[in-house]
Amino acid sequence: MNHQLSCTCKIFFFISILTTFTLNLCAQSPEIKVLHAARLLDIETGKVLQPGEVLVEGERIKAVGEKVEHPTDAQFIDLGDVTLMPGLIDAHVHLFLHPGAEDLQTVEESTPWRTLLAADAARADLMAGYTAERDMGTEGAGSADTAIRRAIDSGLIPGPRMRMSGNAIDILGGHEDANKYNPEQHVLSNADRANTASELIAVMREQHKQGSDFAKLYETGPDSMVNGVLRTPYQYTVEELEATVAEAKRLNIVVAVHAMGEPGTLYAAKAGVASIDHATQLSDETMRIMKEKHIPAVPTFAIFEYFAEHAESPTVKAREEAQLQYKIAEFKKQIAAGIPFAVGSDVGPFPHGTQAHEMTLMVKYGMKPLAVLQADLIEGARLLGWADSIGELKSGYFADIIAVPGNPLDDITVCEHVKFVMKGGVIYKQ
Ligand SMILES: [Zn+2]
Repeated sequence: MNHQLSCTCKIFFFISILTTFTLNLCAQSPEIKVLHAARLLDIETGKVLQPGEVLVEGERIKAVGEKVEHPTDAQFIDLGDVTLMPGLIDAHVHLFLHPGAEDLQTVEESTPWRTLLAADAARADLMAGYTAERDMGTEGAGSADTAIRRAIDSGLIPGPRMRMSGNAIDILGGHEDANKYNPEQHVLSNADRANTASELIAVMREQHKQGSDFAKLYETGPDSMVNGVLRTPYQYTVEELEATVAEAKRLNIVVAVHAMGEPGTLYAAKAGVASIDHATQLSDETMRIMKEKHIPAVPTFAIFEYFAEHAESPTVKAREEAQLQYKIAEFKKQIAAGIPFAVGSDVGPFPHGTQAHEMTLMVKYGMKPLAVLQADLIEGARLLGWADSIGELKSGYFADIIAVPGNPLDDITVCEHVKFVMKGGVIYKQ
């Protein structure tokens, strides 16, 4: 009897395993979609296919062309009079910042509250067409960004693919420290503090342990514009920066810097950082090294324009506008010098989901639309460590695809009006 029962059990067990296996096979067969649109932009060549189609299998692109195979089990999606292109990349965001609360956020807002706001920011950025981003510092929320990355990657919340830095790293009394408050209140810095090469390495190891993808350092600051002259005191020496780049290599990560001007920009270029962000002032020697080592500048015009337009007083407005004008003049020299660029908006202090305006500004101040799109997508993918996975519509790449009205090569502002968003084969906006 017992023996019979055990046999019956075994048979049932075997059948149930077989059923589960078969069901799993059915459940796991990837969804197939064919996207069709009036146009498709090949970012690498600048060629516009008319019409354009993408065959998506599961989370990846299987084929791209004017016409692709239409498998019988595929869902056919006709998007009409739009241009298909790769999902946008923002190489400089702050999911943990929002308008009006930057400097005293660590005092006024708890990290759990800021994490909830960051989740909402991630959703807003994705809906605006950003399918990948590099977060350049939580500004006082430590490694809470790793929770956002995990929630996005596990499908719990919608958001871009993220590279997270945790807190940025800064010197005592530096750009992001809580300076000039009542010392007795011990207001916390918005960054992790490191004053020497050994302290820098210790902080990088701590952040790595907590799950950061790269290290963000403040190399200049506090930055200011006084009577038309840009003042950007450096924070770390070349030797100190070299120590961080060496440690980053050991950890298989990279170092990115906030560096507004000389000599910090030169020190960063010499040390071989991954990108120089803000990059308002670059000497000829700095630009020569950036070209030689292929270090992109990330101009972040959008934040400068926003601060100039939302200044608290006429005096501040005049100063912010002077800084923007100076930056525009320097940017024209940088374009002429042929340095590489990536696109980062510094969104956070201005509303999430509006940052495609950065590309509009880069065109307005001198770059061709295709050059800006290549900087955003090809250089951006490389900078985020996802070259050969995102930034282009190619077979084998992630199906991170957006659609914009019109043709972005004729009018870059169409990127501010994204109509369709797919990330990893999943449609988030249609
Ligand atoms: Zn920033």
